[in-house]
Amino acid sequence: MNKKTITGKVILAGAGPGDPELITMKAARYLREADVILTDRLVSDEILIRHVQPYAKIIYVGKQCGRRLSTSQETINDLLVHYARLGKLVVRLKGGDVSVFANIMDELETLVVNNIPYEIIPGITASSGAAGYAGIPLTARNYATSVRFLTYYKSDIVSDEYWKELARTNDTLVFYMSSETLPKVVAKLTANNIDSMKLLAIVEQATTPFQKVHIINLYEFENKYAGQSFISPSLIIIGKVVALHEKFAWLSNSNSNEYYFKPMTNQVISINETDKLHKHVS
Ligand code: SAH
Repeated sequence: MNKKTITGKVILAGAGPGDPELITMKAARYLREADVILTDRLVSDEILIRHVQPYAKIIYVGKQCGRRLSTSQETINDLLVHYARLGKLVVRLKGGDVSVFANIMDELETLVVNNIPYEIIPGITASSGAAGYAGIPLTARNYATSVRFLTYYKSDIVSDEYWKELARTNDTLVFYMSSETLPKVVAKLTANNIDSMKLLAIVEQATTPFQKVHIINLYEFENKYAGQSFISPSLIIIGKVVALHEKFAWLSNSNSNEYYFKPMTNQVISINETDKLHKHVS
């Protein structure tokens, strides 16, 4: 295709962690202007209802660990190119911030290779959302001087040396995508003698009406929480700052076990279906 024929554009935008009011004004404006929206699972339906025009096409391209319904990265890339080449304004909406554990690079590479203009609009990442709505200042003075964003999704990538360092540091540790591997995280940190003053917070469905915060002493985790699973999505915060929750929490725990973000149920969209899809937007 002749490069000059491309007039579409892709906006890679963060939707924030859950509460639909935690999206930026800029992302909301682009949603109102968009022809096509490619959205992830961890995006509030309410955001789409409030901002997207009735004529716009919404395509669910969520991914969920271990679910066969996930859309492949290749299909997502193909859809971005397909609609941009049709001259559409495409918003690629991702939960939280687009630069934090959001796999944005594949999509950026695709846009660059295909010479498609784009913008990147940041969002409030789950760490900031959970910290705010749980009353846990991540770098509170005299408690922590830095914060680390981590994941323990693939268990083999962390060396013993690094576990030792993680147990020793006074940095606040925030783990994304790690609620299933949490027992291993706790076991590694306690085996490396993490200070018992440091607490663990699990923030389930942060910033949504179903938010629940669990505060646990790492050395009691095994006894009290073994075998317990946490509602997705959950964020883990470890450090002395976690104790501040008791003083600064301003939101009570939800009594509900409902899912705010529905588990993936939509059909897989393959690129062969884009012709069908494009009829809806042209
Ligand atoms: N780009 C996103 C992160 C995507 S990775 C961001 O910046 O927030 C998905 C992980 O983010 C989840 O497994 C969970 O650990 C965390 N997460 C996202 N939304 C969350 C929420 N509302 N509450 C708790 N954790 C959340």
